[in-house]
Amino acid sequence: MQDNYLRQHFPIMSAKVNGKSLIYFDNAATTQKPQSVIELSNHVYSAINANVHRAAHALAATATAKYEHSRRVIQSFIHAKNDEEVIFTSGTTESINLVADSWGRHFLTSEDEVLITHAEHHANIVPWQQLCEHTGATLKIVPLNKFGLIDVEAFQANLSEKTKLVAFHHISNVVGKVNPIKQLTALAKKVGSLVLIDAAQSVAHCELNVQDIDCDFLVFSMHKAFGPTGVGVLYGKKEILEKMPPYKTGGEMIKRVSLTQGTTFNKLPFKFEPGTPNIAGVIASAEAIEFIRDNCEHIYHQPLVSYLYDSLCSIDEVNILFDGCPDVGIFSFTINGHHQQDIAAFFDANGIALRVGHHCAMPLMEYLNIDGCIRASISAYNTRQEVDTFVRLLKAFLKHDSALSEKVTAVQDVQ
Ligand code: PMP
Repeated sequence: MQDNYLRQHFPIMSAKVNGKSLIYFDNAATTQKPQSVIELSNHVYSAINANVHRAAHALAATATAKYEHSRRVIQSFIHAKNDEEVIFTSGTTESINLVADSWGRHFLTSEDEVLITHAEHHANIVPWQQLCEHTGATLKIVPLNKFGLIDVEAFQANLSEKTKLVAFHHISNVVGKVNPIKQLTALAKKVGSLVLIDAAQSVAHCELNVQDIDCDFLVFSMHKAFGPTGVGVLYGKKEILEKMPPYKTGGEMIKRVSLTQGTTFNKLPFKFEPGTPNIAGVIASAEAIEFIRDNCEHIYHQPLVSYLYDSLCSIDEVNILFDGCPDVGIFSFTINGHHQQDIAAFFDANGIALRVGHHCAMPLMEYLNIDGCIRASISAYNTRQEVDTFVRLLKAFLKHDSALSEKVTAVQDVQ
């Protein structure tokens, strides 16, 4: 018996991996999808598939209406002022590249500075590095405090009238702590800087209100929030998006194309959505948001986080990165005397999906002077029994007790 009511919505939870019942602790990489999201995605292909915004037929009108409905669902979910401020992209990575390329190459000069932190995902580092190389602007890096949060004093000390954009994570994919994004945004605004928030890890864990935060851009991927892969969101304030030139060009993002008089561009949000988008993915994303809304008290408040923290703290060999219990279910740690790859192979053989390595955060690994770590990231459909199995297996691994490992997974299989 599993102790979690949300679990029944996720068909993959009954899967076997390497002959064992799957324990999916890799939710920070991507979450699993509830039946309603899978069904809506299938329904699009089996009943309403057509290209959006173009054709003059009923099926296309239905697909377009559903696609635009998703935009409004996301608008209301993040509390954006209007739906033109919600741009669909392929993911967080593309959303950040869009801003770096369109806003950055147009507005940044060699006199300017961009501020990021030591704990950014590569997707929120490399586009700014490339931009600074291209423009001659300076990239500045803010350190973390001992809890793994952005150091507010250092952040403030790095701001000046030269700062034109700060880009930082709300929740890191390595450290499950929630940064004070409203406070950091207010500090950046005082020097007149724009603010981009990487909320890739946030949507599956907490509510977001872009007007209350007052950020200029906020980006996330639906696949990390029970939605389909290949759908990202870029929220941007309308007055800023309007001043930005197109990022990619082609069909749909134009108003008029003439071989003699050049091209004029479509209005927002279409100016930033060239070509055929991920129609089924965008439509099914609305269902993922509805799923979060319907179950937010289970999704946003997870007693399992402190349970896993206490369990890991009870094992001497485990070193959780940074002080204190994570705010959300993202745990990164090293284990004395054991290489991460051996741990990953052991858990994989036992049906437990973890992630090991640098987690696309090499500068953070360098900052911590480690070559990588193990990450167990849990979600609302995980159970206390799964945590117990994981911890018992870890103890068996540390004792080199293969007979005990077999016994632990046999118990998990009948639960
Ligand atoms: N930022 C953070 C904090 C992330 O966790 C991730 C995904 N691991 C990304 C950016 C990039 O997201 P995507 O791969 O969906 O574009």
